[in-house]
Amino acid sequence: MRRWRGLACHSRGVSNGQPSSFITALPKVELHLHLEGTLSPETLLRLVDRNGLDFPYGSVGEIRAALAARPAGLEGFLDHHYVAVQTIQTRQDFTEVAYELLRECRASNIVWVEVFFDPQFHTSRGIPFESVIEGITEGLEAGSAEFGVEAGLIMCINRERSERSAVAMLDQARPYRELILGLGMDSYEEGNPPSKFARAYAAAREDGYRLTAHCDVDQSTSVSNIWEAVDVLRVERIDHGLNAVEDPGLVEVLRERSIGLTACPVRRPTDPEPQDLDRIRQLFEAGVLVTLNTDDPAEFDTGYLTTLMSEVQSAGGYTNADMVRFVQNAFEISWLPQNRKDDYLAVLSEYAEGDAGA
Ligand SMILES: [Zn+2]
Repeated sequence: MRRWRGLACHSRGVSNGQPSSFITALPKVELHLHLEGTLSPETLLRLVDRNGLDFPYGSVGEIRAALAARPAGLEGFLDHHYVAVQTIQTRQDFTEVAYELLRECRASNIVWVEVFFDPQFHTSRGIPFESVIEGITEGLEAGSAEFGVEAGLIMCINRERSERSAVAMLDQARPYRELILGLGMDSYEEGNPPSKFARAYAAAREDGYRLTAHCDVDQSTSVSNIWEAVDVLRVERIDHGLNAVEDPGLVEVLRERSIGLTACPVRRPTDPEPQDLDRIRQLFEAGVLVTLNTDDPAEFDTGYLTTLMSEVQSAGGYTNADMVRFVQNAFEISWLPQNRKDDYLAVLSEYAEGDAGA
């Protein structure tokens, strides 16, 4: 395995709002991170300039102000998100964004990341599928070599589009099958339940893809969407999925079948603390394999994983051992081969034991 290059010493606790050395150096896993949500304001402006685009914001300050002014909720987030994502135009853009993403992962001591990307949004703008996948792969390979962070790709269905479009995406991906770990589903959820894509998921399972799906928090049918994702799509994980806590039978199914949740307790500039801490606590204590992730780190104040985990630990009152368990959960439900999981879990245990003996 590639050795993890973390800091060797650490101490307990959080001080002055800064991540503790324990959280900073903790080896981490990220399972819910959208490539298209990692465009820093600086990168956005560089792409706007290079691609000669009209863009509503002309400076880093204006971009930050627009992020702060977004309406709450999924729609408000997505409407802004897609304006930013349109700045990605070329194969080279994808390469640079993927490379920069792994640089940021390294800064958070992430050792393994599973990265979502949304081909339909790009191909519907006239960008060839091959430019998307080849550009991203080149950036991830260069980033892995440079920063020692390993990555896998999860191709997402945009759920507001038709099932026919999702199946067409799977066809386009076929020549690149070995570059893609799994299939997911994201974007506008209201009125687009998982069952809409039963056929696409069945085809993906046939092709050997690992399966996950977004069931975003507090949608009007969040609980039934989670049931559909489990029973109809037969996913191995749920992205978000925190409304499961409302249904004890569902919690039991998730726990018994080891279907993990990739929670994203992000914080917008207007939030006093990371979102959804109570539900995460309940699911964590119920023994569900809940994990901590950053979703779209350039678009939330929680940023990348060291900052987010530090804020969750502080606001949620978690011990260092609890934080290690979140990472163990993430390795358990990751799509790494079993021998690699075991290697990383051993590194994590060694790290945790160092803290216990400190
Ligand atoms: Zn997401």
